[in-house]
Amino acid sequence: MLGLYIHIPFCSAICNYCNFNRGLFDTDLKARYVDALIAEIETARLKSCATLSPCATLSPNATVSPNATRSPNATVSPNATVSPNVAHDFGRARADTIFFGGGTPSLLEPDEIARIIRACESAFDLASDREVTMEANPESVTEARLAAYRRAGVNRLSFGVQSFREDELRRLSRLHSADRARAAFAEARAAGFDNISLDLMMWLPEQQLSEWLESIDAAVALDPEHLSLYMLEVYPNAPLKDDMARARWSQAPDDDVAAMYVEAMERLEAAGYAQYEISNVAKPGRRSRHNLKYWVDGEWLGFGCGAHSTRDGVRWKNTSATEEYIDQVAHGGALQVDIHHLTPDQQLGDALFTGLRLVDGIDVNAIQSRYGVDVWRRFGADLEPFLEAGCLRRVGSRLSLTRQGMLLAHEVMSVFV
Ligand code: SF4
Repeated sequence: MLGLYIHIPFCSAICNYCNFNRGLFDTDLKARYVDALIAEIETARLKSCATLSPCATLSPNATVSPNATRSPNATVSPNATVSPNVAHDFGRARADTIFFGGGTPSLLEPDEIARIIRACESAFDLASDREVTMEANPESVTEARLAAYRRAGVNRLSFGVQSFREDELRRLSRLHSADRARAAFAEARAAGFDNISLDLMMWLPEQQLSEWLESIDAAVALDPEHLSLYMLEVYPNAPLKDDMARARWSQAPDDDVAAMYVEAMERLEAAGYAQYEISNVAKPGRRSRHNLKYWVDGEWLGFGCGAHSTRDGVRWKNTSATEEYIDQVAHGGALQVDIHHLTPDQQLGDALFTGLRLVDGIDVNAIQSRYGVDVWRRFGADLEPFLEAGCLRRVGSRLSLTRQGMLLAHEVMSVFV
């Protein structure tokens, strides 16, 4: 079944490391954006190849910039064509997850979230056991507000906590404190949420292994159902880069980062979490059903500015600028700015690249059935050094990364792209 991704591009302040598609919150802009989102979702069922094809812009150099974790190298093949036969009739297509990401979706009013969910219900055949996740920042919620989101249909929260240390939160220019994060978590529980994920970031400026593990322990103490651990990436034009230079902050050496990752995973496993993806752990039955679609060769539709979609071997992205997006929706213009018809080889590469992020890895027999390709024959020689080095393991028809291999995931996965 499809996953539905809804992008909310507003934040109360812009964090110094952020590289997402977002802008400062503005009440009027937000109201117009929500109306546009609903209009886009409601017309999704009317979309067909007739609306996709004319706006296709096939640039041979365009690269895919995923909203999750897909091949960063997938490019449009010179042979790719805009096929008039690819049907994108979303009419009442079945979907079982909705994910409000951003930005800061918890800046939307609960009734706005409810209207968007209703639009999804009217445009798609939504499973009764749907997972509806909303990303939330700790400073933007109260118990009453969270209870209202729950009534609106949100049943899973993902809090952007990042750290439980005040000094680290300040260096990241986050608006919340560690205590506010704890309070937001308690408010979510009181509001009835029994499925909560926390995001934490490692390799922060000046962060030592012991300090990172403090945040892990603080998260475990709250007993969330799910945790995502990310590594800070300091982008060349991020204000954080200047902050670090001015304050002479540095990041830990590579060996320490490896220890941060391995020790955190071991500590989380000891606390009852199972790692199921390079960056994600969950209690039994609490994996993110929506995010799994990105890793199991699934399909999803993205709504809102900059949102990506993948369906029927076609990948496309909406225009990124918020005002332009609103304008295009209002005037019935073309939203899709990059439409890539993936070649079979690109689809195969993506399936292998993303599937290997999962702890369960990939089933080469299933790949052979779906793509008609013998993975060992095609990639065996390139994979062998990683198997010998203990980065990959082969058990029966399954190929997966070892924990050691996860630290070198990009090198291993480059075999497939
Ligand atoms: S809250 Fe998240 S999306 Fe918003 S600026 Fe900070 S990091 Fe970026």
